[in-house]
Order: sequence, then C-alpha cells, then structure tokens
Amino acid sequence: MTKAQSLKIKQLSKILKAVRERCLDCSAYSPYEVKMCVMPQCSLYPYRFGTLNSKEENPLVKSTKQSKRDSSVEERE
Ligand code: SF4
Repeated sequence: MTKAQSLKIKQLSKILKAVRERCLDCSAYSPYEVKMCVMPQCSLYPYRFGTLNSKEENPLVKSTKQSKRDSSVEERE
C-alpha cells in the first residue's frame, strides 16, 4: 500500500467516524435509534453505522428479497 492510499484510508475513516457521530447526535446518542432510523432519504443513512457496509438494512423497511419471499408464500397459500 502506498503512502497516498494509506492517507486516503485514514481520511475516509475520519469521515465515517464523523458521520456516525452526527447520526448519534441526531438520535439523542442512542445507537438503537440510529439503527432504527426511519429516514432512508437522508444522505447519511447508508453510512449511519460508521462503515461503508450498507448491507445492514432498516428492519422497518422490507427488502426486495423479503418482499419476494412473502409474495411467494402468499401464492402457495
Ligand atoms: S441517517 Fe438517520 S440518524 Fe443519521 S443523520 Fe440521517 S436522519 Fe439522522
């Protein structure tokens, strides 16, 4: 890894920490409230856990995979 790449990773890490801090501030410093955020239209939403991994989805919003599963179960019934 080059020095420039290392610097970029450090900067990204700082930005993600700042996003996490902002989300906690927005949610009265409750990590649970950040997890349960109901504002998917917020630009910080995908990064609210302080990571780039956006696989964690809002449990209140059904994923398309879950919707397909539900509809296939309904069709069988
Ligand atoms: S993603 Fe949710 S918790 Fe984070 S700033 Fe936006 S509205 Fe607030």
